[in-house]
This record gives sequence, structure tokens and C-alpha cells, in this order.
Amino acid sequence: MTYVVTRLCRDCLDTACTAVCPVSCIYRYEGSDTDAFPKQLYIHPGECVDCNACEPACPWEAIFPEDEVPEAFQDDIALNYKMEDFEDDFEVQEEEENEQPSPAEIEANKAKWGVPS
Ligand code: SF4
Ligand code: SF4
Repeated sequence: MTYVVTRLCRDCLDTACTAVCPVSCIYRYEGSDTDAFPKQLYIHPGECVDCNACEPACPWEAIFPEDEVPEAFQDDIALNYKMEDFEDDFEVQEEEENEQPSPAEIEANKAKWGVPS
């Protein structure tokens, strides 16, 4: 199994997840095909050791174990796996200081992506 970054991460990129990942397997896309790889982070399925550190650390609640990804985000499983075919276009995301989102912002982001509150 692996953990999966879903679209709830898109454009947020606060990197709280990367700060806690013990194997540095959370990446950002550096290539030019942003239609194929939208602006979010990606977990390398072959490198993730299923430690669960990132899931509670993500303030946007964007990370799920593969077998618990909500129905609305099922396509994001394949999207994370797809990075394995384009590894040269990815860089490990370093931790950056970012402001924590408010509860209202978190709920608004979920609503934007069709998650019922
Ligand atoms: S902590 Fe969550 S929202 Fe922030 S970059 Fe990581 S997966 Fe994306
Ligand atoms: S589950 Fe652990 S190893 Fe996998 S991405 Fe999250 S923090 Fe990294």
C-alpha cells in the first residue's frame, strides 16, 4: 500500500507533510506538462513506507491511505502512481514555512472539490 496526495492539496502546497516524512518521498512536479501533473505534491508509491506521519500533519486533510481515498478523489490514486513513469521531472519537496489555514478555509477547499461537509 501507499499514501496518496489528493486534489485537496492543489495550490495549497504548505509542505507540512514533507516536514514529517521520514523517507523524503513527497515530491513536486518540475516538468512542463501541468495538464498531466497539476500543481500539488505527489507521494512516490514505491518509496512510501506507510508510516502515516503525513496524514495527520496535512492541515488541508489532503492525504489518505490508498485504500481510504474518497470516491470523489479516486483518480488521484493513479495520478500519484503516474509519477513513477516521469521521475526525472520530479524533485523532493523541501519544507517551507507557511501559515496554517483556518477551519473555514479548510472547509471551503473541500467544498470546492465536491466533498460534502
Ligand atoms: S501538507 Fe497537505 S496540502 Fe500541504 S503540501 Fe502536503 S499534502 Fe499538500
Ligand atoms: S506515509 Fe510516511 S513514508 Fe509515506 S508519504 Fe507519508 S510520511 Fe512519507
